[in-house]
Amino acid sequence: MHVRKLTSGFAAVLAVTFSLMAGQAVAAPGADHVAAARIVTYDASGSAEFRTAVDRGAAIWNESVDAVALRPAASGQRANIRVLADNGWPRAQTTSLGNGTVYIGRQAVDQGYDTIRISAHELGHILGLPDRKPGPCSSLMSGSSAGTSCTNPYPDAAEKAEVEGNFGGALAGTAGALPLGAVIVD
Ligand SMILES: [Zn+2]
Repeated sequence: MHVRKLTSGFAAVLAVTFSLMAGQAVAAPGADHVAAARIVTYDASGSAEFRTAVDRGAAIWNESVDAVALRPAASGQRANIRVLADNGWPRAQTTSLGNGTVYIGRQAVDQGYDTIRISAHELGHILGLPDRKPGPCSSLMSGSSAGTSCTNPYPDAAEKAEVEGNFGGALAGTAGALPLGAVIVD
């Protein structure tokens, strides 16, 4: 009698557990959204001494947004983004959202600007963000206007939301602030 009571009680707990699990499975659209992240590949093989900083800049975007993911291109694969080192000022040439060329310019690095912030900033242009200058160090897209002492490589909440909108479609149409097919210096 006592054993039977325990058994039925255990069955009731199991039933509740399974119904909770079923509830979670039904609530999966969030998981679908993550799975639908658009993959944008980048080739940093031409970024010379900045390669580690470029990889870190890409990782920061991956930590910061869900709608798009930056991945190193496989060897022989044509990448969406080419990242090059040169002696000019850092800049990005956009061709379309998620596509273009980034230059990690030594001119700014030599003046003391942070290489990871530069990398994340220029990748931000390819993800559809315009410059926001002058601006505070908390803003990634304030770029060099925040000064050489600013080493923050993270986008702020508004910048994250804008990229989510650019790639997630929820705020589709707001990407118009960024000129495509243009070279954005800094
Ligand atoms: Zn810029």
